[in-house]
Amino acid sequence: MRAVVFERFGEPAEVRDVPDPRPAEHGVVVRVEATGLCRSDWHGWQGHDPDITLPHVPGHELAGVVEAVGARVTGWRPGDRVTVPFVCACGGCPSCAAGDQQVCERQTQPGFTHWGSFAEYVALDHADVNLVAVPEELTFATAASLGCRFATAFRAVVQQGRVAAGEWVAVHGCGGVGLSAVMIAAAAGARVVAVDVSPTALDLARKFGAAHVVDAAHTDDTARAVRELTGGGAHLSLDALGSPVTCAASVNGLRRRGRHVQVGLLPSADGTTPVPMARAVALELELLGSHGMAAHTYPPLLDLVRSGTLRPDLLVTSAIGLDAVPQALAALGSAPGAGVTVIEPWSR
Ligand SMILES: [Zn+2]
Ligand SMILES: [Zn+2]
Repeated sequence: MRAVVFERFGEPAEVRDVPDPRPAEHGVVVRVEATGLCRSDWHGWQGHDPDITLPHVPGHELAGVVEAVGARVTGWRPGDRVTVPFVCACGGCPSCAAGDQQVCERQTQPGFTHWGSFAEYVALDHADVNLVAVPEELTFATAASLGCRFATAFRAVVQQGRVAAGEWVAVHGCGGVGLSAVMIAAAAGARVVAVDVSPTALDLARKFGAAHVVDAAHTDDTARAVRELTGGGAHLSLDALGSPVTCAASVNGLRRRGRHVQVGLLPSADGTTPVPMARAVALELELLGSHGMAAHTYPPLLDLVRSGTLRPDLLVTSAIGLDAVPQALAALGSAPGAGVTVIEPWSR
């Protein structure tokens, strides 16, 4: 099969022929119909993820058709339309037993712990635990956007953030996850303040339902701007970018007893990020993490997508073939971009 491969971190990836994957006993091989290009792929390529061994094929936001099925898989057959969360769970650990597959103790992540979906086929583990059926009404490009950013945003806003109608929600960072969060919070009846440095991202945030936007490139104190716009602070605030600055701004923009959800990853040299904990104590804030979303909790999200209440398809701004991926991957470093690029491996 054709795949996007890199041999060394940070050096150009290339498209070449590699052996077709085979399913594990508990796994499947999926013919990739669409797969999203994500900033996490860029981090992986740069060597920021210790799980990656070389040579490597990135890609973790995928949808496609089951091509081959392992002997112990009972719930899936060739021809099924599927997607997966980017955290694939083992199904057997205490977290999985508790229904918390998103924090599985033996998780695998396509495109990180093994070869991913920037390829014509991808192998996925523990299919009965991890696959999600894609309704006929959804295109593969739309379904691909669910697995990472949209499902991640849904868990952050709805499951962890417990958004309620009428609340103020601040979203710091309006890339793929942030714009998804804006749309999801607005659909839940919340009033959303979107914060970003990019005018394009803020325009999209407005289009997706933000009541107010804060241009972080021209605002000294974005937390204060959020507090002023919301009459004292947001009830729920997300750092959807993942940086010490946006994390602190999110916490500092909350009202009393507000909830901060850290959904952007926070890579740092020593693994720690300063958080304004004095404010967390004084205002009785809740500080929550959010990590992907378990496959079995997808149905309410899929219902909202199917009914048109949520429109992840609007986030998709371009489609490219495999040959364009090495350059697009490299470009993510300098220009994160506001829209979502979907890769269609079988298009030339
Ligand atoms: Zn992603
Ligand atoms: Zn597990």
